[in-house]
Amino acid sequence: NLEIIFAGRSNVGKSSLLKELFGAKVRVGKRPGVTLRPTHAQVSDLLITDMPGFGFMSGVKERKQDIVKDKTVHYIEDNAGRIKIAVLVIDGPAFPEIVDRWDSRDQIPIDVEMFDFLREIGIDTIVAANKMDKVKENESDPLLNEVAIRLGLEPPWQNWKHIIAPISAKKGDLKTLKGLLRDRLHEMKRDDL
Ligand code: GDP
Repeated sequence: NLEIIFAGRSNVGKSSLLKELFGAKVRVGKRPGVTLRPTHAQVSDLLITDMPGFGFMSGVKERKQDIVKDKTVHYIEDNAGRIKIAVLVIDGPAFPEIVDRWDSRDQIPIDVEMFDFLREIGIDTIVAANKMDKVKENESDPLLNEVAIRLGLEPPWQNWKHIIAPISAKKGDLKTLKGLLRDRLHEMKRDDL
């Protein structure tokens, strides 16, 4: 079985993205309370896993957020053999500022920490930079360069087009991400032969 996990901070548009990608096949949307466990859906031969949103949630104690992070890390470690691809969803326009805010407190932002962790344990990780509809066309490349820098990837961002996929879940503009997922899946099929 082949598993793809979707992870991201709360409010980055992960539910919107999953709905656009898989429609009704993946149960998404806000449920009452804070979901700590990943939810799964089988889409043909793929196991799609929606990780609980991490980071700030209003009304949620900081300790609970640590629990979300720990559970996420444990889940990924326990299933690393099966998880072939991770899609880390970020709020593209907001990302550089969020990272800088954490840096100024000498803390590593949870998204960056997760990106490093996924790559360290050898999971092929795609960063879906969502909400790109908020960015003017001529400001898109400079923003994505800033995103790349915050991820520790040397600009220009175009050198990392196999990792960074600018998208807009709201507009249904997902072609870069779909392209990357398709490429990965093709490669895997070929490797299996
Ligand atoms: P989640 O908490 O990560 O699952 O995020 P949601 O899918 O619930 O979306 C959070 C908010 O971001 C909602 O108000 C969405 O309408 C909005 N949103 C999601 N995707 C996009 C996008 O591509 N562009 C814009 N402008 N807003 C988006």
